[in-house]
Amino acid sequence: MSLRFRDRPSPNHGPRIGVTEIDMLIIHYTGMAGAEAALDRLCAAEAEVSAHYLIEEDGLIHRLVDEERRAWHAGASFWAGRRDINSASIGIELVNPGHDFGYRPFPEPQMAALIALCRDIQGRHPIRPAFVLGHSDVAPRRKCDPGELFEWPRLAGAGIGRFPDFGTWRKKRGPAAEETLPENLRQIGYEIFEDDLKSSIVAFQRHYRPSLCDGIADAETCGRIARLAAEPI
Ligand SMILES: [Zn+2]
Repeated sequence: MSLRFRDRPSPNHGPRIGVTEIDMLIIHYTGMAGAEAALDRLCAAEAEVSAHYLIEEDGLIHRLVDEERRAWHAGASFWAGRRDINSASIGIELVNPGHDFGYRPFPEPQMAALIALCRDIQGRHPIRPAFVLGHSDVAPRRKCDPGELFEWPRLAGAGIGRFPDFGTWRKKRGPAAEETLPENLRQIGYEIFEDDLKSSIVAFQRHYRPSLCDGIADAETCGRIARLAAEPI
């Protein structure tokens, strides 16, 4: 498909620090009433936030920050030992009102544009499948975007990120799977907080078990966590 771009430069960026390549993709939703309000905020110097791209629901892609520059989208975050997610990543905002203003499915033209854009980006940068993530994956206690309506399996089917076929996984039931939960989540890349395993479980569920995001590690959740942890990142 042919991508439709519009330039809307944001002043909110800086040099990438301590990285030689861009190998992460972070997906967000805007969580605001409309596209224009989100663009205004992402381009306002005083807001000190930005992303490389914003995709409207009709598929129009706004270019805000050059890929070579460090955009300010992830904030305080963590993945697989890394804390400066902004320096290693490209941030993509999807227009969606979000959980506070009427969360809704991401429309077909928006998803198609996102997939085409991600494939484009993957042609320019060595993006690692285990490092294609949602904002909530890298900031589980602060963020819930892009949320449980985001179609991660569809992205994986297009060669972007990873979403294993959990159906073929023989679930490990009982305490054995539960005991290994923190270590398994850490193995996948999640930050584990003392006395708050729930936040990381919810983040995992939003991404890999979206039908139930209650933070309770039932057999299905434990099994999926173990399945993913068994895959080297
Ligand atoms: Zn976000």
